[in-house]
Amino acid sequence: MAEHGAIFGAMLQEFNVAARIINLEPGVWNILTHPKRQIIVTCPVQMDNGEIECFTGYRVQYNITLGPAKGGIRYHPDVSLDEVTALAAWMTWKCAVAHIPFGGAKGGIVCDPTKMSRRELEAVTRRYVAEIVDAIGPEKDVPAPDVNTNDQIMAWVMDTYSMHVGHTATAVVTGKPIEMGGSLGRREATGRGIMIATREAAKHLGLDPTNLTVAVQGFGNVGSVSADLLAKLGAKIVAITDWKGGVYNAKGLDIGKLLEYVKGREKTVHGFPGGEDLPVEKLWPLDVDVLIPAALENQITMQNAPQIKAKIITEGANGPTTPDAHKFLHEKGIFVIPDILANSGGVTTSYFEWVQDRYGYFWEEKDVNERLEKKMCEAFEDVLQTSLKYKVDMRTAAYIVAIQRVGTVTRMRGMYA
Ligand code: NAD
Repeated sequence: MAEHGAIFGAMLQEFNVAARIINLEPGVWNILTHPKRQIIVTCPVQMDNGEIECFTGYRVQYNITLGPAKGGIRYHPDVSLDEVTALAAWMTWKCAVAHIPFGGAKGGIVCDPTKMSRRELEAVTRRYVAEIVDAIGPEKDVPAPDVNTNDQIMAWVMDTYSMHVGHTATAVVTGKPIEMGGSLGRREATGRGIMIATREAAKHLGLDPTNLTVAVQGFGNVGSVSADLLAKLGAKIVAITDWKGGVYNAKGLDIGKLLEYVKGREKTVHGFPGGEDLPVEKLWPLDVDVLIPAALENQITMQNAPQIKAKIITEGANGPTTPDAHKFLHEKGIFVIPDILANSGGVTTSYFEWVQDRYGYFWEEKDVNERLEKKMCEAFEDVLQTSLKYKVDMRTAAYIVAIQRVGTVTRMRGMYA
């Protein structure tokens, strides 16, 4: 890659800090900071009005040293090669930290799905898959949902790929509907992982994990499941904000009732009668034990970081904390569980889905959850021990774990040239 943009640059900054600490040799450093494969395709689609529109699609396989590439497909007007490449790199490190046999990938189509009909979305999805069909597959690259893509879109991905190869290939994609090879427990997996990571962090810090106060930004898949499972553990979820507003209750919000409330409205917690209104910016200064950003990237910045009183920040979203804010929080003694560890429950359970598809034998939800519990605890412990050994923050430690795992296999496999 000759040049890179700001998002990939941010990934490199984090990578370089860890690589320096472990004295990574220049050769492996060079390999791990370059994407293996970047694919750009044009997807012409006849729109409902009869006109032909050409959508740009990307698929980046950043690194496949540990196994097939793994990563979501995003539909958004701002998708760029820089963003997709950075996200593919982060998937590489996340899979390595989770200790699952996958490399990292990401895909995206530059489009605005809110302005497209179901037929147009199906058409662009199928054309995109047809364009990258030789590059993906159960042993090559396994996509999944990401921003603005869902289980229906994964069903179209699976069907298009299967039509091209001439047989049903469920393991080509994860995050599918249960009826066609999806895994029980996948929908809740990221939030379950957040709960486990938060619980383990509390234990490490000497806090009672069954008696935490928690504030959450975002009440979508990740935020709502995290809040629900932490509440079931005994925590008091005192505040939640989303795109429209927030709600606060010092005695703890009733998450079951809030879930019901959100379903019936414009998908917002705003106006929930079981608490008081909370302006979104008032989430950060709350006196809570745990803060969970589970909405968007770049939410914790130097504007709000100095106000934060939480002892633990569990990064549910990808990239919710800017690098300068992260440095500030670490120096202030706040325990930040980085995204590539905290939200890895999703990809770990995607791995379980892929395993079940390849076996053709499906596990009970209890088995999925037990295996996730074990993997998350092991990943947390590996990163924690690394942070204690090198006296670094948890984010740098997670990168060290990832670089060591991918680097070791890179050296063992050697150069093919
Ligand atoms: P989602 O679309 O289900 O929910 C997003 C939530 O964020 C919604 O409640 C929305 O109202 C809220 N939100 C949007 N704009 C906001 C704003 N300006 N201020 C406050 N809240 C706002 O998405 P999700 O699947 O829950 O994903 C959330 C984050 O977690 C993303 O960064 C995603 O990349 C990351 N993530 C998701 C998974 C997964 O399995 N779903 C896995 C790993 C990481």
